[in-house]
Amino acid sequence: MITTELPDLDGFVEHHGIRITALGDDGEVLVALGHHKPRTAVIAFRAALHDRFGSTLADWGDFHTPRDVEEALRLRWAVLLTACGTCDGVRDCWACRDIRDASWWMDYAATEPVPAGFPVTILTA
Ligand SMILES: [Zn+2]
Repeated sequence: MITTELPDLDGFVEHHGIRITALGDDGEVLVALGHHKPRTAVIAFRAALHDRFGSTLADWGDFHTPRDVEEALRLRWAVLLTACGTCDGVRDCWACRDIRDASWWMDYAATEPVPAGFPVTILTA
């Protein structure tokens, strides 16, 4: 089943009507729930960086024009994971443990709709 319903996940904060969070050890990946028009996404990501990190698109990702950002945006389909998917699930794999311990864990690599997937807009510094 393909669903486009957006999940309610801890850690996402709304900026200009778009729920956004930062992932990665240094917050180097911004994830917005939903697929958004480039101009809308740029405005929301800019606000998220300002509000959460006191940063700018230029400082965070070396993006100096809205066009730089628009070209870096990626529309993906995300799924929530409950296991790493690469181990045998029997041994106590560190990746599975991290996933279990987290509020949620997301794989956002898919470029096409996937079962139980939901749309996300990604910006990587
Ligand atoms: Zn595992």
